Amino acid sequence: MELAEPEVVDDCRWLEKPPAGLEHRTLRRDEFWRGIPAYEKIDAEAFHSHVFQTRSSITSVDRLARVLGNRVPEAFYEDVRKGLRRSPMSIRISPYILSLIDWDDPYGDPLRTQFLPVASQQLPDHPELYLDALNEQGDAPVPGLTHRYPDRALFLALDTCPVYCRFCTRSYAVGLDTEEVEKVHLGVSRERWERVFAYIASRPELEDIVVSGGDVYNLKAEQMWLLGETLLKINQIRRFRFATKGPAVIPQKLLTDRAWTDALTGVVEMGRRMHKEVVLHTHFNHPAEITGVTQDAMDLLMERGITVRNQAVLQRGVNDDAATMNLLVKRLSYVNVQPYYVFFHDLVQGVEDLRTSLEAGLQVEKRVRGTTAGFNTPTFIVDTLGGGGKRDAHSYEYYNRETGVAVYTSPVVRPGAYFFYFDPIDCLDGEVRSRWADAVWRRQMMEEALAVAKQGMG
Ligand SMILES: *Cc1c(COP(=O)(O)O)cnc(C)c1O
Ligand code: SF4
Repeated sequence: MELAEPEVVDDCRWLEKPPAGLEHRTLRRDEFWRGIPAYEKIDAEAFHSHVFQTRSSITSVDRLARVLGNRVPEAFYEDVRKGLRRSPMSIRISPYILSLIDWDDPYGDPLRTQFLPVASQQLPDHPELYLDALNEQGDAPVPGLTHRYPDRALFLALDTCPVYCRFCTRSYAVGLDTEEVEKVHLGVSRERWERVFAYIASRPELEDIVVSGGDVYNLKAEQMWLLGETLLKINQIRRFRFATKGPAVIPQKLLTDRAWTDALTGVVEMGRRMHKEVVLHTHFNHPAEITGVTQDAMDLLMERGITVRNQAVLQRGVNDDAATMNLLVKRLSYVNVQPYYVFFHDLVQGVEDLRTSLEAGLQVEKRVRGTTAGFNTPTFIVDTLGGGGKRDAHSYEYYNRETGVAVYTSPVVRPGAYFFYFDPIDCLDGEVRSRWADAVWRRQMMEEALAVAKQGMG
């Protein structure tokens, strides 16, 4: 049998204004960094080197001002300085991300929102906020290993990242000490790693390890090898993931740091020969973070047979509307990254302005599911306060939309226990908001929710 060649249609990849529904295919390949005063004269080859991206990362407001100059008014820098005073994270932002920010509208820009705090937008913290809200340290049998779920564990291999995100859940350990927080230190150390590996080897039920941090992008190639080989050689380990924000913030590294990318590939191939799965989990939050460079980097990993999945964080003003989330999901899928999870924002110090209500997030989820294949549709997750673990956001036992209190159970992790999640207070009605300011009322709203949940009336 012979088939006629189907007629080829333009796939719209190069159009500046693609037809509705196909925007995800238009990826920036212009020299977008040239609009930043300090990068004006930098050519593509220099800009797209991981050495430049790492060395020129912005780590202070003074440096930010030197790079941006009078592109933004002086008042903006002052706003960031004030914002940092209440933030548990210091700043670190790559030239790549900095250049993708729309500096004509820094206050409204979704990338600026994620990396640079401004005092004028900050809100008071939720009264039920604790520093390590997920109780990762409480479930850690050895420093830097959280064993909460029966068959898998989370290994914090190091405590630095290529960038620092305002909303980091692990602000208790990740990054430099700030005015707000003196951190638990989990640096790379042979002795600490050996204790972690010894614990993993001693637990026959462990089959799956999340290697995170911090961020494995900051490991040396030899350390990637050492870690990968050691885990693969533990008999009962069937699979593990390297978790890194890297592809979203310095995609160039995958293309120009051959030693690192080859180490990753080597571990994946070694795993494949042993019939064990090694994958990369990354963290894109907004479609504007995905450019032509991202596509080139993801193409390289595709050619090397490396699976990449994404875990996003739902953030107000960044991706909490269905159009943006749909574009993110479609664009990730387009560059062969599987959208795995979307996390409701944890309760973290100094970032109440980034959280959304459970209701708002569930509305986004309803409008995302059905857009594309089920395996490219993220599950929306609430990581419950106090260590109940990840729950499908829809699976609450009770959710009072008026008081903003949701109650979850977690039969596998902590049978019989109940866990809370709270909507941001500024999203509630005025009258309820004032009730939250009062400790007695607060108790009452939480007890009411708990009582209804326990009766199974939710
Ligand atoms: C998220 C997480 C895991 C992995 O959970 P998955 O649902 O398999 O992605 C493992 N351990 C801890 C402590 C976690 O927070
Ligand atoms: S890259 Fe990940 S671990 Fe590092 S600051 Fe951002 S969210 Fe936290």
